Amino acid sequence: MVIEYAGIVIRSEDEMLYFWVLFLPSQGIGCYMFRIDDFDVVDATMHGNAARFINHSCEPNCYSRVINVEGRKHIVIFALRKIYRGEELTYDYKFPIEDASNKLSCNCGARRCRRFLN
Ligand SMILES: [Zn+2]
Repeated sequence: MVIEYAGIVIRSEDEMLYFWVLFLPSQGIGCYMFRIDDFDVVDATMHGNAARFINHSCEPNCYSRVINVEGRKHIVIFALRKIYRGEELTYDYKFPIEDASNKLSCNCGARRCRRFLN
């Protein structure tokens, strides 16, 4: 275990409302969300930790898992292999595949980069 992706679990249906009301008007505040499943999202914008800054890679050294602790969902980042001092931590964001108009290009620099995050 490397770090928990800390934040507040919010219901999916509140996610967009929350985004429009709180974050679009205040440019400059990053929006850090981690989708757990169809229902819940962890919002790390205000109560997150360093895990929210971990970048995506198509060839990552970590992976994320949702674990249940006493009925509460937590996102935990685990190492995939030995990680060396000074090495950047990365995991695969596993965004759902979208059509061409919604593609986010990937700049992870991995040899086997998939070119897109979604
Ligand atoms: Zn990539």
